[in-house]
Amino acid sequence: MIPGAFNYHRPASVTDAVKLLSTLGEDARPLAGGHSLVPMMKLRLATPSHLIDLQDVAGLKGIRREGDKVVIGAMTTQHELLASEEIRTTLPILQEAAAVIADPQVRYRGTIGGNVANGDPGNDMPALMMTLGAAYRLEGPNGAREIAASEFYQGAYFTALEPGEILTAVSIPAPAAGHGYAYEKLKRKVGDYATAGAAVVLTMAAGKVGACAIGLTNLHETPLLATDAANAVIGTSLDPATLEKAASAAQAIMSPASDARGPVEYRKHVGGIMVMRALQRAASRAS
Ligand code: FAD
Repeated sequence: MIPGAFNYHRPASVTDAVKLLSTLGEDARPLAGGHSLVPMMKLRLATPSHLIDLQDVAGLKGIRREGDKVVIGAMTTQHELLASEEIRTTLPILQEAAAVIADPQVRYRGTIGGNVANGDPGNDMPALMMTLGAAYRLEGPNGAREIAASEFYQGAYFTALEPGEILTAVSIPAPAAGHGYAYEKLKRKVGDYATAGAAVVLTMAAGKVGACAIGLTNLHETPLLATDAANAVIGTSLDPATLEKAASAAQAIMSPASDARGPVEYRKHVGGIMVMRALQRAASRAS
C-alpha cells in the first residue's frame, strides 16, 4: 500500500518542532524512526497531512548519566541501547528487551521515544519503563514537564501527550547495585510482538526478596504494573506456592485482546507463566 499525500518538515530544534506541531494542529504528527507510523500510514490507519521529522532536532540523541538517573534522548535507537556500555552496566534489562524487539533493520531505525510515545499495547518498552519507575520529559507550547511512565498510558494509542507536545527524553533511576532482572516475552516467531510479556526487577537479601516490581506487556490495552503480584513475593524465597500466587495476582488484572495471538484465556495463562519465569530468572541473577 502507498500512504496518502503529506507535507514533510525537518526542524532543527525542539522549539521549532513544537512550533510546527502547535501551528499545524492535529493533522501533524512527529516522525521518529517511522517503524510504527509509516506502516500505519501505508494501511491508511493513520493519515497525517504533515510529518514533523525529528531526526535533525539537536539534543534528542544520546545516553547520559545525570546523578542517580540514566537519561536517554528520545531519538536514541534500539540498536544504540544495545551497543551502550552505560545501559549494559546500569540497566541491562533494557538490552534484554531491545534484543527481542522486531529484527535488526527495525532496531537500527526504531527509537525509544517512538516506542514509548506510540501508546501501542504491543510495544515492549512501556511496561519496562513502568517497572523501572521511569519518567518521560515532555516539551510543548506551554513549556517542559515530566510525567511518570505509570501515569502516561490512558488507553490503546491514548497517552498523556497534550497537543503540540513531543517527548524529548526518558529518565530512569539507576536500580540498586546487584539487582536481579528479567524480561520474558512469548512470541509466535522472531520479529513478532508479544503474545504476553513480563518484566521483573528485584533485590534479594539472605535468600528472600527485598524489593520487587513487575510490569506486563500486551496483556491489557495499556502496559500494566502488577503491584499485588510484586507485593506477594516480597519477604519470600520464591517457593512454588508463592510463584503461583504472584501469577494469579497478575492474571487478575490482565484483560488481553482475543486476536491472532490467541484467545483471552490462553494469553492470560501464558501471561502467568511469563511472570513466574521472569521472577525466577531475576532472582537467579540478583547478588
Ligand atoms: P515512529 O513510527 O516514527 O512513531 C511512532 C508514533 O510515536 C507516531 O505516532 C509518532 O508521531 C509518535 N512519536 C515518535 N516519536 C515521538 C516523540 N519523540 N514525541 C512524541 N511523539 C512521538 N516494537 C516493539 O516494542 N516490539 C516488537 O516486537 C516490535 N515488532 C515490530 C515488528 C515490525 C515488523 C515492525 C515494523 C515494528 C515493530 N515494532 C516493535 C515497533 C518498532 O519498535 C517501532 O520502531 C517503535 O515502536 C516506534 O518507534 P519509531 O521510532 O519507529 O517511531
